[in-house]
Amino acid sequence: MKKILLVSTAFGVLLSSSILLAADDEAPQWEYTGDTGPDHWGELSEDWSTCNTGQSQSPIDIVFTEAGEGDEIMLDYKPSGISVVNNGHTIQQNFDTGSTMQSGGSTYDLVQFHFHSPSEHTFNGAHFPLEVHLVHADKEGNLAVLGVMFEEGEANETLEKVWQVIPEKSDMTNTSEQKLNAHDLLPGNMDFALYSGSLTTPPCSEDVRWHVVREPLQVSKMQLKKFQDVISANNRPILPLNGRTVKTVSD
Ligand SMILES: [Zn+2]
Repeated sequence: MKKILLVSTAFGVLLSSSILLAADDEAPQWEYTGDTGPDHWGELSEDWSTCNTGQSQSPIDIVFTEAGEGDEIMLDYKPSGISVVNNGHTIQQNFDTGSTMQSGGSTYDLVQFHFHSPSEHTFNGAHFPLEVHLVHADKEGNLAVLGVMFEEGEANETLEKVWQVIPEKSDMTNTSEQKLNAHDLLPGNMDFALYSGSLTTPPCSEDVRWHVVREPLQVSKMQLKKFQDVISANNRPILPLNGRTVKTVSD
């Protein structure tokens, strides 16, 4: 990126726009530690400046209050084929079309889910060992994410369907003959915290509608180890609320 910045300074504005387009194709490397870690994401690309300057960023620490009515969600999840990607930053299951979430008057399609270990959101300052993000997008590309925590306990059978085909190397995709319904990755009680946040990875885009479920699921020590052996710690640190409201919505 240093080289690109030098060139655009030398040749002026006209050239810099095409150079930036070229830079888009080869997004800079980012990591969870060191010189390309979360504190520096906003400096790695002009398109990622929100990571440093955004005032509505995720994850946050969540303090649940008494659950209130209104802002309920409606989930209509269908079985999907299993297609699991190791993108170097996480393990991601890509969904067939047909699973939807209604929230705040919009309908969002379930696109993918992926995992963070340890969790990104904290409850009263405490991390969980694992968090899944079910990422939904509406027709205009607006995002809504459903986050669910895992505490250590019994093995999770639905997780196991994904874990069986985790690609051990990055930029690899594995498929399986089995089907998976995202509904099976949700707890019995769906009380959740609702707030407006961002993507937790570059470009850290805001206006993401976040729903973080209060009741955790269980994951076994073996399952945790399998994920952590392939993906090293991939949680962005907690960011300030900056006056945002976090509403506890009842199931
Ligand atoms: Zn995520």
